[in-house]
Order: sequence, then C-alpha cells, then structure tokens
Amino acid sequence: MSFSLPEKVIFLICLCAAAYGFWFRFNKVLVRIRAAKSDPDFSIHPIGKRIWDFFWEVLVQAKVIRERPLPGLAHALVFWGFCIFGLITLNHFSTVLGFPFMDNMFGEAYAAFARWFGVLVAISIAALFVRRFFVRPRWLGALSKESGIIAGLIFTLMVTFIAVPFFPEYAKPLWWAHTLALLAFMPLIPHTKHLHLVLSPVTIFLSRGEFSHIPPLVGDDDFGLDTGKDLTKIVALQAYSCVECGRCSQHCPAVNTNKLLDPKKIVLGVRGYLNEFGAHSEEPLLTDTYVAHIPQEAAFQCTTCGACEFQCPVGIEHVPIIIGLRRGAVNTGKWEDDYGTKLFLALERNGNALGFSSSEREKFITKQQFPIFDGTQEYCLWLGCMGGYDPQGREIISSFARVMDHLGTTFGVLRKERCTGDPARRLGNDLVFQQLAEQNMETLKQSKVSKIVSICPHCVRTISVDWKEYGANPGDIPPIEHHSEFMARHIDKLPKAASTSSDKIVYHDPCYLGRYRGVYDQPRAVAALGGEVIDPPRSRERSFCCGAGGGLAFLGEEKGDRVSHNRAKELVATGANIVGAACPFCNTMFRDALAAVSDAPPKLLDIAQIAAASLPPKPVSQ
Ligand code: SF4
Ligand code: SF4
Repeated sequence: MSFSLPEKVIFLICLCAAAYGFWFRFNKVLVRIRAAKSDPDFSIHPIGKRIWDFFWEVLVQAKVIRERPLPGLAHALVFWGFCIFGLITLNHFSTVLGFPFMDNMFGEAYAAFARWFGVLVAISIAALFVRRFFVRPRWLGALSKESGIIAGLIFTLMVTFIAVPFFPEYAKPLWWAHTLALLAFMPLIPHTKHLHLVLSPVTIFLSRGEFSHIPPLVGDDDFGLDTGKDLTKIVALQAYSCVECGRCSQHCPAVNTNKLLDPKKIVLGVRGYLNEFGAHSEEPLLTDTYVAHIPQEAAFQCTTCGACEFQCPVGIEHVPIIIGLRRGAVNTGKWEDDYGTKLFLALERNGNALGFSSSEREKFITKQQFPIFDGTQEYCLWLGCMGGYDPQGREIISSFARVMDHLGTTFGVLRKERCTGDPARRLGNDLVFQQLAEQNMETLKQSKVSKIVSICPHCVRTISVDWKEYGANPGDIPPIEHHSEFMARHIDKLPKAASTSSDKIVYHDPCYLGRYRGVYDQPRAVAALGGEVIDPPRSRERSFCCGAGGGLAFLGEEKGDRVSHNRAKELVATGANIVGAACPFCNTMFRDALAAVSDAPPKLLDIAQIAAASLPPKPVSQ
C-alpha cells in the first residue's frame, strides 16, 4: 500500500496531535507523582520477586482472571491483544511513511495470528460493554460515557484490521479507519481511568512487596498522612492507577454493611486531592467529604481486613493508606473519639485493651496453675488481651493449654505481658504502640524466650511483622506461631471425635490468619478432629471479616448494619451445628451475632476447644 504526500502530511499532523493530547495530560500526572515525597523504606530488592509479580500479575493477568474468571478473561484477552497489536501498529505507522517492515513471510504469519486474536478481542470488548452498560453490576458504579467510547474505539480497531483480507479493495479506507481510531484512543488514555494501561504495570512492579506493609515514620515531623505533603510517590502512583473496577468495594465489609467507608472512594479521594491541591499542599487530607478529600469517619470504619488490597488487580495497597490517614489524624490530635481515648488510656495505664487491672490476669494464671516462663520451657504461651482477660478468650487458652499438656510440650506464661499494640498500631497511635512493643520486647529478652505460641492471629501478626516494621532488630523478636499451626503439626497425636459424631463445623477464616499470614489448611485440619468441616460461600482468601479488626472491637456501636451479623447469617445459612473459629476476636464478635441472627444458633467453638474436646479427661490430682 502506498500513500501520497498529502496523506502522509495528514497522518503526521494527526499523530502529533494525538501524541500532544496524550503528553499534555500524562505529563501533569507525572509531575504530581514526582512531586510527592519519597517512600522511606522503599527498596527495589528483592528484584526477582518483583519480576515474578510483574510476569504473573501483568503479563499473565493471573489475579484479574482468578478473582473474576469470565470478565477477567475478557479483560486479559483485550490486554494481550494490545501487546500483540503493538508490532502491527508500528508497521502501520511505518507503512504510511514508506518503510513497511512486515511485508514478508513473518509479517504475513504474524498478521494472520493477530487477526485471529483480534476476533477474540472484539468479542471480549463487546461482552465487557454489554456487562458494563446492560448487566451493570453495582460495583462498577455510575455509567461512564468514556468507557463506552473506549470500548467502541477498541472494537473499531479490531474490526478494521480483521476485515482487510475480506475486503482488499477497501484496504486503504480500512487502514485509515484503524489508524484514526488508534490516534483518537491515544489522548483519551491519560484523561480517563484507562490511564491504568500505562501506570498499573509500573504500580505492580513497584508495590511495597508485602501484604499491608505499614511504612515507618521518619523524623519528628512525620505523623502519617495528614496533608498533601505527606503523600508519597507510591501512594500517588497507586491513586492514579485505579481502574475503578470496584473489586475492593465488592469485598469490603464496610461497603457491604452500608457504612460511609468505600476503599475505591478512598483511592479516588487521594487522586482527587492530588488533582485539586497537589502533593505540596498543606490542605488536610481528611475532612467530612469524598470530594477531593477523604471523610475522617470513613477512615475509622476500616477493620483492616485487607480484602480490598487482596482483590485489587492493579496493586493498590489500601490498608497502608488508611492506616496512614489514621496516623495523620491520631498523631496530630485531630481524631476525637471517646472510645478511642478510653482505649488508648487503657493501653497506656493497664497494658491491655480491655481496661482491666493486670492483677486480674495474675489471678487467672494462678487459678489455672499455669507455670511462669523461666527459660526452661520450650514455649512461651502468649495470652494476649483476650486470652488474659476475656472470659471466652480464657476458655480458649485453657483448652489450648490442655492440648499442649496432652502433647507433652512444656510451656510457661510471662509474669508481665502487655498488649502487643495491635489496636494502637491499626488505629494510628504510634506512641502507644511503640511503648507497648518496647516494653514487651524487653520482657521477652529478660525472660530469654526463644519460641512463642498464641491463640490470636492479631498478636501473631503484630509481634512477627509490626514490631519489625517499627524498627526492632529481628534477632530480638522470638519466632511466633499461631496455635493452629502448632496443633496441625502435631495432628497425628491428637485424638479425633468419636466416629459416630455427626457434627458439621463451618470454619470461619480470620482475616489476620488467612489473608495476612496465608494460613488456611492448618486450622481446617484441627477443626476436622471434631467432625466434618465445611466452608461458607466466602472463605479462605475471600473470607468476610467478623468486624473486630483495626481496633474496631473497642470503638463502640457500629453505624448501619453490623459486619458480624452479616457474616453470622452466612455461617448460619450453611446449616452447620458448630461454627469453628481460630481467633478470640472473631469469637467475641460471633458470640452475640449468632444469637441475634438465629433462634437456634450453632455452637461457637475455637479450634483449640474442638481439639481439647476429644482429649482423655485430666487425671484428678490427689
Ligand atoms: S481493609 Fe477491609 S474494611 Fe478496610 S477498606 Fe479494605 S476491605 Fe474495607
Ligand atoms: S482500588 Fe483497585 S480494586 Fe478498587 S476500584 Fe481501584 S483498581 Fe479496582
């Protein structure tokens, strides 16, 4: 195909206009991202993991397909089509300038392959259009004209390329239609959410690398995300990468119970703020609206369950943003909440989140005849606030202690143990968290503890990850495991319930054990000691929060529907006669919730209680 000089000139004018349209907006976005402050603990290493994540999540589109198989596959086909058509487009442009490089056998074979693939892309984009404009899942939000225009342009791009061999006499008009559609598409990219096409591969490659990683505060003037000056490059990059797919909202317990919090709006709020004020502004990030800001109330409704972050296909890390916003509010004294104040005081004065005197814990230890850890025992049994003070938590600890006794594992408890700092950390109070972490680390060091086991996934996470993130020397923190991991390792030595048992146990995955620690099979193996284990519809990585995390267990009544009731209904609907839990916080939330949603609620048991139920009775001491 040859082109006249006027045609070449028209093409070059259109190409320059499209490139300018793209760069005009894209450069503004780049300037805003680059103006944000650097991320304090960012490291490009380990590079191997980054390359793997890029291959798996960007090139293979594995996460996109895994979480929403059909729309995900359609989206992946469109993405792969973009990659395949890259070479075709280069050849298109060089053809008009008189330098075609695919007029050879390779070029013909490649074009034939691209045509077949183009058919899949055309079908996929048409299906996505129908889904967005006719099926309209509510998670996608309001209809967007721009999505329709983009879908139309991609469809045109495919059809005008596929049609060439069938209508060779129209090869040139089809070439022009294809090229003009492409040149119209280019400037739309940075003006719309399709900016993710360019940014999300970079966002995924540059992610913080660990689930819900909370970055350190640096210097005396760093209080968290208070104003635009506190936004970091990674946060800004993530804000501009959001594709507005609504996956985060769909799985968020707050959205599902009609709260103000919506993780998608949090991300878009940061984007709106950057567009409106930029990264050097001293305008507060938190106000009472989502318009170019984020409502403070929303930031404090998050249970930090991580469902949003787990789902996001473009690598946006919501939890560090939300905790960063809380830090900005709490560390500067801008968060005023009676429950929050009471909690922080209880943590400071009593060393536990429930506000009891530490003598209550001592009485419990004495009553249970738990040995004090003196360096001769194998494990330090970490009681935690729930295990030390909450009646139900104490029952779990007692059952687990029985299991350890049965296994012949030696253990002791600390004479003085304070809250790990989990609620302070998640609510953004760095000072209280730091005090608690330091006091506990000192106690562990003095007691020469070398291994810890805990019934609480929150304690496990805080000790194993947050204390290190805060800056503790990893060598100063003994390894800790969850009791499910411990019991699963010794499962062969634990008796099963009688074979006549007809108990059906629905297992609830705690967020901090599942998504945060990746432990799914071990608690199920332990629960299976008591009967048949079944899963609720939302389970494993997609488990639905109990509503307690993020310090919310201590912040009083929820607004709107209760997260725990939403989950309890789902658990009851499975028909199981036992709800198996593996976290004392889940346990406390479901205690009332199950009774509230059912006249004949299933029995609520921790996996330690299930395991202990089949143990031979303790010999009566003389
Ligand atoms: S962490 Fe959980 S509660 Fe918080 S925004 Fe994400 S999905 Fe919602
Ligand atoms: S934050 Fe991620 S999951 Fe949520 S809408 Fe944006 S791209 Fe989708």
